[in-house]
This record gives sequence, C-alpha cells and structure tokens, in this order.
Amino acid sequence: MATCGEAGEGCKKAGMPTWVPPRPLGEGGLTEMMDRMYPLKVFNSLTRTKTRFVPKDSNRVLWYMCGPTVYAPSHMGHARTYLHFDILRRVMTDFFGYDVSLCMNITDIDDKIITRANEGGQNYRELAAHFEEDYMQDMALLGVRAPTVVTRVSEFIPEVVEYIQGIIDNGYAYESNGSVYFNVQSFEGKKGHAYAKLLPEGVGNGELMAEGEGALSLGAGDKRSSGDFALWKRSREGEPSWPSPWGDGRPGWHIECSVMASATFEGMGDGTMDIHSGGVDLKFPHHDNEMAQAEAKYDCCQWVNYFLHTGHLHIKGFKMSKSLKNFITIKQALQENSPRQIRLLFLLHKYNTPMDYGDDAMSGALAAERTFSEFFHNVKAALRRTTARDPARTKEPELALMSSLSDAKKEVKKCLCDDVDTPGAMGALQELVKNVNKYIEAKERAGEPIVADCVRGAAEYVTKIFKVFGLASPGPALGFSQVGDAGVGGDASGEGGEASREAILGPVLDVLSEFRDKVRGCGRAGDTKGVLAACDHVREELLPGVGVRLEDKGDQAVWKLEDPAVLARERQQREQEQLRRLEAKAETKRKAAEKEARKKIPASEYFRGLKGEDGKALYTQFDDNGVPTHDAAGEPIVKDKKVKKEWEAQNKLYNNALAKAKK
Ligand SMILES: [Zn+2]
Repeated sequence: MATCGEAGEGCKKAGMPTWVPPRPLGEGGLTEMMDRMYPLKVFNSLTRTKTRFVPKDSNRVLWYMCGPTVYAPSHMGHARTYLHFDILRRVMTDFFGYDVSLCMNITDIDDKIITRANEGGQNYRELAAHFEEDYMQDMALLGVRAPTVVTRVSEFIPEVVEYIQGIIDNGYAYESNGSVYFNVQSFEGKKGHAYAKLLPEGVGNGELMAEGEGALSLGAGDKRSSGDFALWKRSREGEPSWPSPWGDGRPGWHIECSVMASATFEGMGDGTMDIHSGGVDLKFPHHDNEMAQAEAKYDCCQWVNYFLHTGHLHIKGFKMSKSLKNFITIKQALQENSPRQIRLLFLLHKYNTPMDYGDDAMSGALAAERTFSEFFHNVKAALRRTTARDPARTKEPELALMSSLSDAKKEVKKCLCDDVDTPGAMGALQELVKNVNKYIEAKERAGEPIVADCVRGAAEYVTKIFKVFGLASPGPALGFSQVGDAGVGGDASGEGGEASREAILGPVLDVLSEFRDKVRGCGRAGDTKGVLAACDHVREELLPGVGVRLEDKGDQAVWKLEDPAVLARERQQREQEQLRRLEAKAETKRKAAEKEARKKIPASEYFRGLKGEDGKALYTQFDDNGVPTHDAAGEPIVKDKKVKKEWEAQNKLYNNALAKAKK
C-alpha cells in the first residue's frame, strides 16, 4: 500500500492532490496478464498437456464436433461425448463469456447405414432421417443445447468432390480403380506436414484402419500402401452413389468432417478452427485423417488449434460393447434416472477421464441431488420466515459465511479454469452448502433469526453455477429447474416454471402451515374451542390475505379466488359495521342505565341535578317543590308548561319505582 504523500508515477495538476493509478499487475508481469486475459486451460490432445486456451479471433470460438452416424438408437456412449461437451460448451459460453459457434455433422451416408437399410429393405435416407430425429430428441431430453450449425454429408457432395480434387492436385492423393485414396507417404514430412498427430502409435494398427475404412470397402489391392485411406469409394450395385471425375461413388468417412468443417468455417473465418472435439475412440484414424486431409488441401500445418476428447465410458465396470450386450440406450437410462440425475453424474466426473455408469456412480449423483435439493428447500423456508423486523446486521457467524461464499467462488473459478474440472467445482459448491446449512442450524438451535442476505447470496451463487451447468433454468428462482419437468435447464422450456409455481403456491402454503401449527397445538392441548377459533381465523384473516374467499355452505366450505384488495375492503366494511353495532348497543345500554338511575331521584331533586352540555346547571332557582323558576342565565322562566309537565312525569316515575320497591 502506498503511503500518503508518496508521489510515485502519480499525476499532479496544480492545486490538485496526487492521484496514483492502480497497478493491476504484480511481479508476474506478462504471465499474469495472460492469466487474466486467457484464464482457461484445456487438455489439448495435440500436445497431451494442459495448455492455455487462446481463441484466434478475440472472443469468438469456432468449434467443430464429430456428430453421430445415424443408423441406431443413441446410447450412453453418445451421451458421454455430447453431454460432457454440452457442459464444456456451457461453461465456455456462460461462465467464460466466449461467443461459441459449434458446428456438428450428421453422418447420413455410411457403410453401417447402407447395410442396415438394405437389411430392412428401407431407403437409406429415410433410415438416417429417422435416427437423426431420434438422436436430436434424446439430446433435447438430456438438456443438450442444439449445435449452432448442423451439417449433413448428403448435402455437401459437390464440396466433397472439389475438396478431394484439391488434395489430388496438391499431390497427396491418387485415383485407383474408381476410388480415391490419401497418399500417406507423399504427405508425411513434406512441407512440414505430419501424419497421425494425435496417435502416432496407431499407425499400422490394421484393426483400427479397417474400422475406419468401413465394412463395404473394396479390395485393399487398389491402395498403393496399406496405410493409405479412402477419400472416395466406388459404389457397387444397390449402394447410393454420386457422379465424380473418378466415376460414380460416395465419400469415405473421414473426408466429410474435413469438408464440412472447412466449408462452415470458411464462411466465418479462414476455414481453420479453435476447437475440434469428439470421443476418444475417434482419435485414430478418424481425427488424424481429418487433419491430414485438411492440411493437405490447404497445405497448412495447423488446421485445428485445440483437439479435445472425452474419456471412455464403462458400464458397471466393463467397456461398453456389443459382444457384452451391455449397451444402454439413452431412453433406457432415462427410465432409470432423470435427466438432472444423469447430468449430475456427468458433472461429478471429469469430461476426459474414464467414467463408469453403474449403481455406485449413480448413488453419488443421487446423494448430491438430495444434498442440493434439501439445501434449496431449507434456504427458501428460512428466507420466508425472516422479516424486516429481524436483525440484518452481520456479525461473526455472518462474516464467516460470507468468507465461505467468497472462497467457494474462487475455488469454482480455479477449478473451471483448470481444464473445466466440474467435479472440483461441484465439491466447492457442496462445501459452501455445508457451511450454509451449519449456519442455519446454529441459528435455529439458538432460536435466532438468520441474516437473510448472507444466506440468499450463497443460494443465488449456487443457482448461478447450476444455470451454467445446465441444471437450472433461466429466471429468478433459486435452485434446480421446475420439479417434474425434464429436470435440466432447457433453455426455452421451464422458463420461470419454478418461480411461478413458488409465487403462486408459496403464500397459500404459508397459510396452510400456519393453520396446521395452530390446529396441532390445540389438538395436543385438547383445546376444541381453539381448533374452531383457528378455523375462523384461517377463513377471516389468513385466506383473504392471499385472495381466497372461504364461505361456509352447510357443513362444507367453498373457496373462491378474489382480488385480495377487494377482500381487504370487504373486511374493512365488515369491521366498521361491527363497530357501529357495538356503539349502538352501548348507547342503548347507557340510556337504559340512565333511565334506571333517574327512577331513584325524587322530582324535588331531579331538576337541581340537570346539567347542560357545557357542564353548567340548566336551572339556577327552584320553588319549594323543586320546579325550576330561573334558567341557566338566571332569567325567570315564563312559559313553564313544559317544565311543569316534565316535573310531573319525574314525580310519577319516582313514586311508581318507590311503590314497586316497597312491595
Ligand atoms: Zn469427424
């Protein structure tokens, strides 16, 4: 801290005190500046290290992801890739604020699709369209955001042909017997090119190569070398085909991604990209071939800056495979668990480490769901109980809670910067939840109200991160998305669902729980009258406050919804009416008492006691019988008929009462 009077580099104008500019950078200098500008580090498969993520064009991120080959229902292996990359994309967009454009392809021309369609006597396009819709539906159920751009290979055939021609022209591919193959040997080492950047150890692995080439490939004898791979495949009878300079055929598998990513990103930049992602199984040959093709076409050396891969998925400890019959479709998984529970499971596992989908792993996700649900319920209940009459001043426990929130924020940020470590971030949130729960419990034990703002701040932060993770919908409500919906933060669905439910039900539930407390108390004390009083109280006081008019109809009550203001006015009128009746009753009673008192006064005394409104005597002089002769002012009373008559009436009243009393 600079001491006062220290001039430093501060600017000083005549007559003005010295102002020292803040210095954001410490000893770290450039590294610290880079950390601030580019805080995120990702595990780049191209370096096999965590590297700083620096987008090419300021805040813009161009991202290509290999999509599904649509010939069968999607399974948990797909979820592993697309749900985890959905989480990554949400974190990059909603936490780090990047403007992400995600392009994903749909492989709708493929040997597997052709084989399946032929088996069922179906049109291959129809089969592909059916499973594409099925896939999109599954992703929507899981709350996976739709890509920015979807590309189908069937819509890019002319671009594919042109691209392949470009590779041939550059000398990296050759035609053979109606098919075109990539020439690995002519590419490797030329102009700085490298083949199999991701998995050099995969080169020469016949099994992986064969899988990449597809089951319907023609004789390997057409290739100059076994390591070469197909860019264009001559089609046989009954296989879909398109015209090309090399004869009728169809694209090889890998070429489509190079073409569609390049075409999409040429429209947004120079055809290269920041991120390419996919499942770990695609590293070789698919991803390596994609890069080789694009770098051969452009004669460039780095088509992709960051290659991200999700980890393997095991089912109850075993690798998912057809031979083990342990394939679990997404729809089957959704019968067992909600989308929210599945997403929690994924959040509790890092995107690029092996993950097991089984009972043990699921029980961890279910426990986390319970912890957070309880937390939100407790916080909301505690917030409802506090009023402006409760202390708001923060003392030691509140300061500790605020510091715990600040620690959680730092830790979550640290974890997300560290290759999007969501399990670490979830751990930090759980620690915060534990501290808030402890604070609320301690306050409850001491019978003291909570300081609402501290608790609300913590719950809002957890909700904010849940929105980033896709666990909560947009909107002001605290906690998970609406109960009973898909259970995840669908971007359009469930907007304000929980908020409106709570806004509507909350006040009525407050009435219900207050009523229940009273009835329960009376029940325990055997106080029947108290129960009935509580019934009146809920009808007359509590329900009108929430806009409900409860009317007794015989033994049954009916409720009607009414504007609370109307009910309040009616209640005020009722109270005024009641007050008037009470006053009238009191007046009658007072008059009766006055009359009763008057009976006991002899006529000779009666007029002497009469007083006017000003408290002065009404008459000043009387005759022997007590009949007034002079008024208040001392003037003689001339017309005395009325006074005489009144005297006689009093005399009669007194004598009658006397006679009655003597009997
Ligand atoms: Zn691909």
